[in-house]
Parts: sequence; structure tokens; C-alpha cells
Amino acid sequence: MSEEKKQLFLNQINNHTINNITQSDIHDLTDHLYKKIRKHAQFFKGKKGKQYIQNMKNIDLKTKIKQNIKSFVDYFDTEHMPNSDDIVFEETTKNIMSPHYKNNTFVYNPKQYIFAPVMQNTILLHETVPGHHYMIQRVKDTNGKFDLSFVEGWAFYSESLFDKNCIDDKISYNCSQLIRAIRTYCDIMYNYYNEPISYISKIYMLFFPIGDSKDHDHEIERIKNHPSTLTCYVLGEKMFFDIRDQYLKNKNKTIKDFHRDILSNGIQSKTQLQYLLK
Ligand SMILES: [Zn+2]
Repeated sequence: MSEEKKQLFLNQINNHTINNITQSDIHDLTDHLYKKIRKHAQFFKGKKGKQYIQNMKNIDLKTKIKQNIKSFVDYFDTEHMPNSDDIVFEETTKNIMSPHYKNNTFVYNPKQYIFAPVMQNTILLHETVPGHHYMIQRVKDTNGKFDLSFVEGWAFYSESLFDKNCIDDKISYNCSQLIRAIRTYCDIMYNYYNEPISYISKIYMLFFPIGDSKDHDHEIERIKNHPSTLTCYVLGEKMFFDIRDQYLKNKNKTIKDFHRDILSNGIQSKTQLQYLLK
């Protein structure tokens, strides 16, 4: 049974990625995620980390988001960037899985813990620009057919951009990295290694930097109901980093060139990405 479960998990992933993912890849990824969790969790459990999260709750979200969009636009330096003034913010009281972006409108529930301001930089890069903004354009052009790890991989890759390349807020970046790592680690532990829910709950209790046990249960439901999804996202992100490394080696170009090349072509397919490397 547990071998079957593993195979099913691998098949689901391999339907969504270009690389053939093996058991040993999953093993290495788990190891990597666990190290990442250990590296970042301690800070957020400590006094300084808790204080940081508390302070972030008091900021004016809309103003900060608009400022950040401006920085991203400057950083990306492409004619495909939207004007931050064109982006509309819509607050909702509905219980939504995550904030999202549709037709230039960013929809979020300010009361929902997961949109804790500590994550707003990365959420913004992920959900709006350059993350899903471009993908949504492409999906419209291709009758809604797209690849999960490709779409989410690009959005995850986009999140990483604010680390050293545009907005420098290391703590906020580490917080969202920690959240991503825990979710993916638990996806693998529960859906691949067949660990019980009690183990997953314990990981959340020990390491997850925000929310209470009710919020954690909501997270765990998501992991139970969408096996391998979060792992696909992370592997997709890795694909973009790999392609970027190769691009930078082959062409004597900068990261900015890489983004411009991708975005000006509308990041339409894996084939097109591979073409960029030639
Ligand atoms: Zn996404």
C-alpha cells in the first residue's frame, strides 16, 4: 500500500513537470526542506521574531502594496509591466483559500491570517506581478490549458525575486520561505511517506510561524485534499532556477535580461523557455 501511495504521488508530479522526478529526488527534496525549516523556524519562535510578526500587523497594507508594485516595475524594466495605479484592491469578508488576482483586481481578506502582512511582499509577487499576472494572460490565449508546476513554478520563482533583487526585507522573505517549506514538507510526509496526521500537526505546532491551531487545521485539510500539489509548485520553481542558471552561463547576460526575455515573450511554454537558452 505505501509503495502504491508513493508511486501515485510520483505519477501526479511527473504529469506536471518536465523533469522525470524519482524517489531519490523526493528524498533529497525532503532533506533540503527540513534543513530550511530548522534554519528559519527558530527565529520566529523567539522574542524578536514574534515581535516582528506583531509589528507587521499594524502596517497599512494598501499603501505598502502600491509602493512595492512600483519597485517591482522599476526592477523588471519591461513595457509589459502594469501601472500600479491600474491595480484595484478588493477586500472581502469571505473565507478564501488565498488572496488572488483577476482582471487587474487583487482580492484579499484582510482578516485572514494567511494574508498576515509578513507575507504580503511574496504574495504580491506571486499572485500579481510578475507571478500570475503573466500566466493569466497566457491562459486566456491558450484556452485555459496550462501546466500546474509551470504556472506555479513561475509564481514561486517570482516570490524569490524580492530577496536581494528588488525589495530588501530579509525577515519577511524568510518567513514566507519557512511557510512554503513547511507546507511542502508536510505534503511529502503525509501523502508520500504516509506519516500520520498527528505528525503533521506536530510539525505545524512546532514550526509554523503564524496562526493558531484552528488555522493549522485549515492548512492540514488542504494538504490532505490536494496531494502532491505543493511539491509540484516547488519543483516548478526549481525548474525556473535551473533554466536561469543555464541562461546566465550560455549568454553572458544578466538576470534582468532573463526576465525581460521571458516576460516579453509572454512565458508561453516550456518549449519557449528552452528556446531562450539557445
Ligand atoms: Zn499561485
